[in-house]
Amino acid sequence: MNRPTIPGLSPALEINTIFCIGRNYVEHIRELNNEQPEEPVIFFKPITSILQDGGTIRLPKKSKDVHHEIELVAAISKKGKNIPKDRALDYIAGYGLGIDLTARDLQAKAKEARHPWAVAKGFDTFAPISSFVDAGKIPDPQDLELKLEVNNEIRQQENTGLMIFPVAELVSYLSEVFTLHPGDLIFTGTPAGVSALKQGDQIRATLGDNLCTLSVTVDNE
Ligand code: MG
Repeated sequence: MNRPTIPGLSPALEINTIFCIGRNYVEHIRELNNEQPEEPVIFFKPITSILQDGGTIRLPKKSKDVHHEIELVAAISKKGKNIPKDRALDYIAGYGLGIDLTARDLQAKAKEARHPWAVAKGFDTFAPISSFVDAGKIPDPQDLELKLEVNNEIRQQENTGLMIFPVAELVSYLSEVFTLHPGDLIFTGTPAGVSALKQGDQIRATLGDNLCTLSVTVDNE
């Protein structure tokens, strides 16, 4: 398949690895009765989960409980390994919004069995992304308002300043394990307010003062 490019960024970057961070906001950890991690919780989404702005999320038959998780997404600009925290933001090309769709029922089963989350997180259309803005326009990624509305009702609204592991720490941590490459995306975790979606829902997400917007609809598989 052709790898999609990250919308909005110039020069164009093809999407490479999709890293995701779990449990990065205290109130979200509480709402799911999870424990706060000592190191970032990392998982992946496949390239086939990417959905562009204006697209349709397909609720898979295998799940009865698919949740939205709005997240700030950072796009990596250049190759890097063992990147120190104080230089980490130099490796970011831009920022956008993503929704980490999660089949909560399948994730709960996986957690109980101590199995990975790949299925619960990885269905087609489970990673909608907005158009991105150049990192130069966002001097502080830890002071951005995330907002997600379903059918014009606010479900999630929080500032990225409440991340447990800020973006610079995530880039540094990931680069100790994985060589980062241009076009890698990092979904940085969701604040509280996650809830179930149903056929016909209209989702609108915004970053800051309309720096980025993302609108998707929900339908069955
Ligand atoms: Mg998430």
